Formats: sequence, structure tokens, C-alpha cells
Amino acid sequence: MEEKTIFKRIIDKEIPSNIVYEDELCLAFHDVSPQAPVHVLVIPKTTKLRSLDDVTEDDVQLIGHIFAVIREVARQLGIADGGYRVVSNCGEHACQTVPHLHFHLIGGRDFTWPPG
Ligand code: 5GP
Repeated sequence: MEEKTIFKRIIDKEIPSNIVYEDELCLAFHDVSPQAPVHVLVIPKTTKLRSLDDVTEDDVQLIGHIFAVIREVARQLGIADGGYRVVSNCGEHACQTVPHLHFHLIGGRDFTWPPG
């Protein structure tokens, strides 16, 4: 059996996290190393999606739900008016470090483009 990722351990409440939203499909919690005043990770509870590159038509409903949750969490944390960024690092070149699909919701400051 594959070893649990850190995110699966957070989902299973084996390690603590600062949760801002949870339902049967997904979980949102503050990043342990925030890159902005607000930095939340929104993740599906399923472990079958290791990155965006695993997403197929079968996951359309789940991914749509996650984006609706991201919108709600942005409002809940007060960053919707100023604008925010949603990032999903996919694979080695994009610096993905945890092999469990996740979306970074970051806001509360100005960002630059292009990203580093
Ligand atoms: P990635 O680099 O894969 O796109 O993002 C992984 C994110 O997970 C990083 O921003 C990192 O700070 C965060 N992270 C890693 N371990 C933990 C943890 O144990 N708890 C929380 N809350 N965030 C974590």
C-alpha cells in the first residue's frame, strides 16, 4: 500500500491543521508556510488525483465544486473584493511538492505577473 501523503493525514485528522471549510468532498485549510496574508489550500478528499494532470471528464463535478468552495472561502476570509489568485502547481517543473491535487488560494496583497 502507498504511503499516505501529508494531505491525506490532514484529511484523516492524524495531524492538525487550521481548517476553514470542510464537506464530504473537500477540505480547505491554512497553508503552514503562507506566501500572502491569506494562503489557504483547497483539496479534494479523494486520493486518486495526484495533480491536475490526473483530472479527467469524470472529475468535472468535483472540480466545479472545489472552485465554488474557493469562491466561498475567498468571501469568508475577506479577500474577494481586492482580488485573489488560485494556483495549482502540477508536477516537478511547477514545483509541486505534495502529490495530492491541491489549489492554493492566495490573497491580501498585490501580486506580480509572470510568476517566478
Ligand atoms: P505545492 O508546492 O505542492 O504546490 O504546495 C504544497 C503546499 O503544502 C506548500 O505551500 C506547503 O507550505 C504546504 N504544506 C506542506 N506541509 C503542510 C502541512 O503539514 N500543513 C499545512 N497546513 N500545509 C502544508
